[in-house]
Amino acid sequence: MKVILAQPRGFCAGVERAIEIVEMALDKFGPPIYVRHEIVHNPHVVNSLRQKGAIFVEETDEVPAGAVTIFSAHGVAEEIENHAKQRGLEVIDATCPLVSKVHTEGQRYAKNGREIILIGHEGHPEVEGTLGRIPGVVHLISEAEDVAKLTVKNPDMLAYITQTTLSVDDTKRVIDALKARFPNIVGPATKDICYATQNRQVAVRELAKHVDLVLVIGAHNSSNSNRLRERAEEVGVPSYLIEDASHLKTEWLEGKKTVGITAGASAPENLVQELIDRLKQIEPVEVSVLSGIEENVHFRLPLSLTKAEPRVNTAAGAA
Ligand code: SF4
Repeated sequence: MKVILAQPRGFCAGVERAIEIVEMALDKFGPPIYVRHEIVHNPHVVNSLRQKGAIFVEETDEVPAGAVTIFSAHGVAEEIENHAKQRGLEVIDATCPLVSKVHTEGQRYAKNGREIILIGHEGHPEVEGTLGRIPGVVHLISEAEDVAKLTVKNPDMLAYITQTTLSVDDTKRVIDALKARFPNIVGPATKDICYATQNRQVAVRELAKHVDLVLVIGAHNSSNSNRLRERAEEVGVPSYLIEDASHLKTEWLEGKKTVGITAGASAPENLVQELIDRLKQIEPVEVSVLSGIEENVHFRLPLSLTKAEPRVNTAAGAA
């Protein structure tokens, strides 16, 4: 069997930064370090940080007063940040800078008197964070069909922004529908969809043209991983999203000579290697990497963390 790996795949700069933030906080302050929501959408990453002393909570109410608390890469609503400050929590923000950029963009549009339309998936933590960062009414839509149902105050004073991990093609369709109904709407085209999401979508589409089956490693609640599976399927190739090698079903491989593998932006590379090892147990495999876009993106860590002096964690055991 031939196995072809997509390039790029796996961790993006925002996920690497978020994980590094938790690890550095554990090193400097010692456990426990509290993290609101899964730091990134991957149970393997979350479990590994949990073993090092991170405690994952859904709400800041669950964090003891004064404890070090990290906000996840998806970002949080302003209200949550204010609530954490009121409780005296020492907050370190691991929001991806590309998510923060969308917040700033939305705030700027709102400040200029525009009503905002956010294209994204209801209930996703990034969408909840973005909704909670922009003052005034924000309309959330996810499909082109939603555009006809919108009721706005002034059709000439609208702006749209998008979630960072959407399908580029589907988002274009929604933007086209918005422009058709509201010709004076302004927005960033599909530039809010981050470089990592776009590059992985281009790569998986190319990969799907060369293989009989695509396996996407990623968590089921990971938006960008779901989009990768859909992109491969659109090329007409069976495609499955699996959390790790243990979820591989051997019947998927029947009659397949070439298998493509990619990984979502929050899936670690060791899961890809474990999947290759699992395939090797089934039959001999020859592995190659499809050439693709080289990424060289790095984000700086928050100064509040890098400049902090190491100290003994006084909140230890307070939970
Ligand atoms: S997927 Fe994009 S927006 Fe999300 S953390 Fe990675 S780089 Fe940032």
